[in-house]
Formats: sequence, C-alpha cells, structure tokens
Amino acid sequence: MFWWQDEVGPGVRMAFTDRGAGNLALHTGDDPAAVRRRRAALERSMGVSSGSLLFLEQVHGTDVVDADRTDRAAVPVADAAVSATGVPLAVMVADCVPVLFLGAGPAGPITAVAHAGRRGLLDGVLERTVERLRGRGADGLAAWVGPSICGRCYEVPAAMREESLRRIPAVAATTSWGTPALDLRAGARDRLAGLGVAVTEPAADDGPACTLEDERLSSHRRDPGSGRIVGLVWRSRPGGRAERTA
Ligand SMILES: [Zn+2]
Repeated sequence: MFWWQDEVGPGVRMAFTDRGAGNLALHTGDDPAAVRRRRAALERSMGVSSGSLLFLEQVHGTDVVDADRTDRAAVPVADAAVSATGVPLAVMVADCVPVLFLGAGPAGPITAVAHAGRRGLLDGVLERTVERLRGRGADGLAAWVGPSICGRCYEVPAAMREESLRRIPAVAATTSWGTPALDLRAGARDRLAGLGVAVTEPAADDGPACTLEDERLSSHRRDPGSGRIVGLVWRSRPGGRAERTA
C-alpha cells in the first residue's frame, strides 16, 4: 500500500502510496464507491478516523486552503493545504510532484501538502504554501519531495521547455532519447532551497523515484487510466507534543 512511509518528527508521519492502495481519485472516471472504499482502507492503515483525511479538488493552481477551517461538506478547490491542528492531509498525483511539509509551530507541528505540476510549480504553488506555513508561525521548515515523472522521461515541446526554464532555469532537462524535457523535481528542489526549506527526497530501495519508470506508481503518461497515488501527512499521536525541530 505504501511506496514509502516514515515518522518524520515526533508523532508526525508521512507516506506516499503505491498502486497497491489503488486509485484514490474521484475525478478519473473510476467507480466512486470503489474509490471511497479504498480511501477508507487507507485511513485504517494510517490509523486516523474515518472521513478525517482531507482531499482537495486540484486544479493546477496556487491556492492554499486552511485545513483547520474547512467546511468538510464540500471538497476544497485548492492545490495545497496547511494544518496546525493535525488534520490528516492528502495530495493526489500521477507524474506531478507531491510535496509534504513539516514545521514547528507555536503550539505543535504544522503540516502541509502541495501539488506541484508544471503549471503550479511555475506559478508559485510552493512559494504560496511556504508563505502560508510561515504565516501560521511555522519554524524550521522541511519538505519531502515525492515520486514524480523524472527529467529523463518528461518530454515536452521545445517551446514549452523554453517558457518553463525562463521562469525556473533548474527545470531544464533532456530525455534519455535526446529530446527537450523538464525535470519538475529539480525545479521543486530549487524553489524550496531558495525559500530556505530543507529538502528530503525519499527513494524506494530499488528503482528510481520516477512514476513513469516504476510500475508500482501511477503515471498519467504511461497509463492514463491508472488513477492517482497520494502523498500523506498525519499525526500518529493525536495532540502530539509541541517540540521544536529547529
Ligand atoms: Zn523517468
């Protein structure tokens, strides 16, 4: 079910699912009842209460939702979410870059997720998320950058490559077959480093952290019908102690 998971701070866990957890997105044409059953199974594996995991309606934008003030009757339209109260957060991907955040707040851990595809990355979704985290008092910010399509696989038209690297030069890449490409993870690392955020890139024991090359992961490029995996951040000890990490 989990491609990677770890306790990243006192009482705070993060994970990225694999296809063993199944498609977790409601917008890809899958049977909604089946998706809801998989989400419920995921919540049981995480040890969080049923229905507590917050999913977003992701639109390749830069809006950041405050998960602590969300009306759970509706799915927030946003590409990032922040919580200072331990709301379990999910971000769906299938080639885009999932980024998970942890910082030390005045009253305990502050967590966030962000969906950084090409558009969101260029438009500043990571900057907006970090700004919101710091606005909530988060200190000692760290980010975990999850599996995505890699720079050797993400072929794009030359004009798109040019437009993208004018905004973030670090995204420039070339496919393994010699054509223009983008390395979104390199772009994410570059933005986060520029913001003073420590970056960790979890890797599986074997194989690259590339959604297209690693068939345990969902890739829209490889298989548009394979749905979405998710990045997750949650508290394993509810109300965990407020401990500064920096
Ligand atoms: Zn690759």
